[in-house]
Amino acid sequence: MNSNLLQVFQKKIYSFFKLKKINHALISNSALDTLTILKKNNFHAFIVGGAVRDILMGYKPKDFDIATNATPEQVRSIFKRSRIIGRRFKLVHVIYGREIIEVSTFRAKPREKIKMSNGVLKDNEYGSIKEDAERRDFTINALYYDVEDKNIIDFYDGIRDIQDNQLRLIGKPKLRYKEDPIRILRAIRFAAKLKMEIHSESVSEIKNSINLLKSVPYSRLFDEIMKFFLTGHAQESMVLFKKHNLSNIYFPSLENNNKDFNNFLLQGLKNTDLRIKNHQSINPGFLLAVFLWKDVRELSKKYKKNFPHPSLALNKAIDDVLQKQARIFPVQKRFAITMSEIWRLQPRFNSTSSKKIYRLLSHPRFRASYDFLLLRCQSLEISKSEGLWWTQFIESNKENQDLLIITKKNLNNE
Ligand code: ATP
Ligand code: MG
Repeated sequence: MNSNLLQVFQKKIYSFFKLKKINHALISNSALDTLTILKKNNFHAFIVGGAVRDILMGYKPKDFDIATNATPEQVRSIFKRSRIIGRRFKLVHVIYGREIIEVSTFRAKPREKIKMSNGVLKDNEYGSIKEDAERRDFTINALYYDVEDKNIIDFYDGIRDIQDNQLRLIGKPKLRYKEDPIRILRAIRFAAKLKMEIHSESVSEIKNSINLLKSVPYSRLFDEIMKFFLTGHAQESMVLFKKHNLSNIYFPSLENNNKDFNNFLLQGLKNTDLRIKNHQSINPGFLLAVFLWKDVRELSKKYKKNFPHPSLALNKAIDDVLQKQARIFPVQKRFAITMSEIWRLQPRFNSTSSKKIYRLLSHPRFRASYDFLLLRCQSLEISKSEGLWWTQFIESNKENQDLLIITKKNLNNE
């Protein structure tokens, strides 16, 4: 028996039936197939991480991660349709049409610190399953499920923590946050997503460690923060985002007690969650446009006195807001463009000119701007009738559209 396997037997093995029968219908066929093939090739292979956790907690997993003792090169050679990805963490993507199964080799803590040219520590030291578990972030994310014998290997009492609703870091929180400060954000995000309590020591260290987030590369930070709001639990996320001072750090505009704006924000978050539930597309630019709308409105109102045309005041306000935000939490250019377009198009919904209305309708950013307009109506920033008119307009045929434009003109003349 090799050492990996020995460690498996030495450690606690929870029979799944004791807790709750795992529903194999929730495991994708591609994940099952990958596991079977790895095992046929005499490797150990387990489902690990979010998928085991989510099934145990009654959620449908969004994707599947597999941990194995096969090296990335060995995995790559077994699966024809696969590719090795990553530099810091080398892993293999096994491709099944549109589904990707992520296969990673059991990892140990690097025994020597090797820095790559970009300054990031190289992190490809392979190890045993136990060492692999030790490197994972939370006890509930370090559960290894064997689909054949239906056992879960639980090195850190993750199952007990699920039962107790506790989100607990493996090891000393201070050290684990220092090792990788993104874990601070992951703790807050999982607490929101899974409606769990962050364990006392893991939560108390957040405050002391939060400054470490300054060292996280911007793109990683951006992706992690977007996951707070674009993965179906935006409302819960916002509560904890504010509670843990993250709004103050990254989006100070969210820190206010303006009832109307909070209403608008809440409605925006609700709509985002609903779109995800309905498998509709979501754009980070739209969400960021919601976050900063109050600032844009206030500034453009202020600038109206100084500019001959309101659109110039709006443009100046948009530039200022984006520049100010860029100093705190830079927004990628493509999202900044979406945000400006959504904002710039808002006054154009007031137009009564047939030519301008049709031009707006054919604008590539019409749909997002229309959704934004509806949000403004839902939160009563503007009259509901404006949104209703546009909804009617896009649902009508050309003949009725022309008639509707006349009614819009008449309404404005009253
Ligand atoms: P979800 O995909 O729902 O956000 P997840 O737990 O699957 O949740 P992933 O980012 O997909 O999260 O990571 C998969 C697993 O890899 C985690 O469950 C955890 O075991 C490990 N992991 C991810 N990021 C870290 C990290 N920064 N530090 C330690 N372990 C991590
Ligand atoms: Mg995952």
